[in-house]
Amino acid sequence: MYLPDFEYYAPENIAEACKLLTQFGEKAKLLSGGTDIIIKMKKEVLAPEVLISTKNLGMKEIEYVPGKGVVIGARATHNDLVKSEVLQGKYASVSNAAKQMAHNQVRNVGTVGGNISNAVPSADLPPIFISLNATVKLVGSNGERTVAMEDLFTGPGKTVLAQDEIITEVVIPDQEMTGSTYIKFGLRKSGALAVVGVAVAVQVENNVIKDARVALGAVAPTPVRAKKTEEFLKGKTVSDELLAEAGVIASGECKPISDIRASAEYRTDLVRIFTKRALRKAIDEGHV
Ligand SMILES: Cc1cc2nc3c(=O)[nH]c(=O)nc-3n(C[C@H](O)[C@H](O)[C@H](O)COP(=O)(O)OP(=O)(O)OC[C@H]3O[C@@H](n4cnc5c(N)ncnc54)[C@H](O)[C@@H]3O)c2cc1C
Repeated sequence: MYLPDFEYYAPENIAEACKLLTQFGEKAKLLSGGTDIIIKMKKEVLAPEVLISTKNLGMKEIEYVPGKGVVIGARATHNDLVKSEVLQGKYASVSNAAKQMAHNQVRNVGTVGGNISNAVPSADLPPIFISLNATVKLVGSNGERTVAMEDLFTGPGKTVLAQDEIITEVVIPDQEMTGSTYIKFGLRKSGALAVVGVAVAVQVENNVIKDARVALGAVAPTPVRAKKTEEFLKGKTVSDELLAEAGVIASGECKPISDIRASAEYRTDLVRIFTKRALRKAIDEGHV
């Protein structure tokens, strides 16, 4: 498998990168870790004539900004998430989601921006970010805008990003949530894409669920927020029966397909089981 010919640019700043994206239009693609786009080019699924590297654009930091929350640069790699001290404690569920991705070689170079902009339904980071109410900053030739992570995806491989826009950062706002977690089911222990991924964040006080966010991955064309499940949980006292019922409601909120990895029925049942388990974990253990 050889790579087709392409022109390569490595702009020194974001404005220059946006200018190149505008100049070359549909012919151009950004290149970050390359763990997805290079494979697609080798397999002749994609044939961009121009690759614009993000390597000189910074966007690597993971920092806590008071009043804003945790800011994750789009070029942070999955292993940067795993190792980040900033994410320990209240945001450990993000590190743990990243730990469940791929294997070391891919985690060392695959980036947050690439994972999100790919918009693959089974991607692991969108569900945990959605459950934590994260936003995405997009910068283009005409300025910047902020989009809620849950509004970013429009279909498999599709987002609201304009041709000249770059994802520059993800922001997780300060949380009232007392626990959050991401559980992934793959067909192997490592290096497997999610058959189902369930992310939950909960705020529990005196054994009563004050707030809940539930996001499901790999069970619809885009990540799904299970809003009926969230509403059902709010204001209720925690019990095994409650969490089991929440799992049933969540399984009614997904629209999976059958494919080589699992049938739609199996995925639906996994959502039922994993929603219940994720809720229990987040309630009992905090940010895991
Ligand atoms: C063996 C293997 C295992 C994998 N396992 C998993 C897994 O378990 N879970 C999972 O979720 N994924 C997995 N992946 C998929 C992939 O590695 C990740 O999605 C990765 O995060 C992609 O990031 P990247 O930086 O390599 O993207 P690239 O390949 O560089 O780019 C991917 C796409 O994103 C665009 N892009 C890149 N950066 C930006 C940006 N800042 N703004 C806008 N657009 C941008 C590119 O133009 C391209 O279209 C796996 C891949 C491989 C090869």
